[in-house]
Amino acid sequence: MIAGHWSVVVAGGRIAGATAAWALAPYAESVLVVDASQATSFWPQQSTWDREGNLLWQDLGLLEAVLACGAPRTYGHTLRVDDDVAEYEYPQQDGHSYRMTVPREVLDPALLRVAESRGNVTVARPARVTDITSRGGRVRGVTVRQGGADHQVSCDLLVLADGRLSHNADRLGAEPYRVVPSPWVALLAYFADLPLRPDRGYFSSQPGSLAISTPCGPGQWCVSTDMHQRLIDESGGHPARLFARITAEDPHIGPAVKVGRQVSRLGGAGKLRMQRRPMSGPGWCLVGDAGYHLDPVTARGTKSALVAARILRDRIAEIGGIDGTLLDGTLLDGLTEQRDAELEEDWVVAAELCQPAPVAS
Ligand SMILES: Cc1cc2nc3c(=O)[nH]c(=O)nc-3n(C[C@H](O)[C@H](O)[C@H](O)COP(=O)(O)OP(=O)(O)OC[C@H]3O[C@@H](n4cnc5c(N)ncnc54)[C@H](O)[C@@H]3O)c2cc1C
Repeated sequence: MIAGHWSVVVAGGRIAGATAAWALAPYAESVLVVDASQATSFWPQQSTWDREGNLLWQDLGLLEAVLACGAPRTYGHTLRVDDDVAEYEYPQQDGHSYRMTVPREVLDPALLRVAESRGNVTVARPARVTDITSRGGRVRGVTVRQGGADHQVSCDLLVLADGRLSHNADRLGAEPYRVVPSPWVALLAYFADLPLRPDRGYFSSQPGSLAISTPCGPGQWCVSTDMHQRLIDESGGHPARLFARITAEDPHIGPAVKVGRQVSRLGGAGKLRMQRRPMSGPGWCLVGDAGYHLDPVTARGTKSALVAARILRDRIAEIGGIDGTLLDGTLLDGLTEQRDAELEEDWVVAAELCQPAPVAS
């Protein structure tokens, strides 16, 4: 039964939403996660992180669940820039010094399962938050549409984790206050049985494009490209054709994909824009892409989602848990500044890559 009162309602149940539900559950009586997607949908967005990400997963108490997804750890990568090739080994500071990529079809359900294992977390899926109710200057609840019926739900805290196109953030009036349009089109597909090492990644930076192969499961690799819009325009073809050409011509990825098997369709996104919205207001909070969207070209979206979830959890812990009276007023103030300070470097690196720059043809 969805209708009624919940301490926390989380809209969106992928990386940011499932992580926030897990992290907030110990401080709440009940948590409802509402996710619009189908359990079986293919999600052409990657999830990659490095040592910093491993430390965040650990801080959130989720590292074990993430490692159980079975993705190999990578301890170095080959970097090809034009025709120069260099090998990099990651400094071994501690047991967390590796990179990892987990397909979203594996990671997101695992995170949602572990959130549900808290006992006080309920998942409604597929279901959608279609409206937000406010009273006395603060959010009081939402309308959830499931199976063609609308349910009125009240809550002490609404967490929006419904992705970069969050209409609910618009409904709240959480307008983006920093926006950087991106010239990159990101595409990816999964492959099996590539004759590549399972403990190393590969990055190739060529004029107007970046190609990456990274192990992401037993005998499985994610092959992705970021292509500058100008390169696509100059090539006169469809981005999918350019993806095929870039990967086929690459001296490392080309021979591998020729003998391997493509096991997913090709998918991705273009015409994106990086944006920051305020992280919180009276009775609401934004986590993940909904509040802070970094262009995928730097592969830091996962980190941004985890940082926001951790900041929110720490504030809720500090104020002693989630309760309607406590969350009134200014108790969630200052989260935006905290998040922006922690992610400033990630923003700058991604924004620099999105600046209009001449692309050699
Ligand atoms: C092509 C591509 C490649 C990428 N590569 C990387 C990478 O290598 N590394 C990395 O870290 N990041 C990468 N990213 C970024 C990363 O995927 C995102 O940062 C991350 O998915 C954000 O997670 P999220 O949970 O905030 O949002 P999402 O993953 O977008 O999930 C939002 C969820 O909310 C649901 N939803 C939407 N509206 C509603 C509603 N009204 N009610 C209820 N539910 C709703 C959606 O159905 C969805 O399930 C990539 C992105 C793209 C597009």
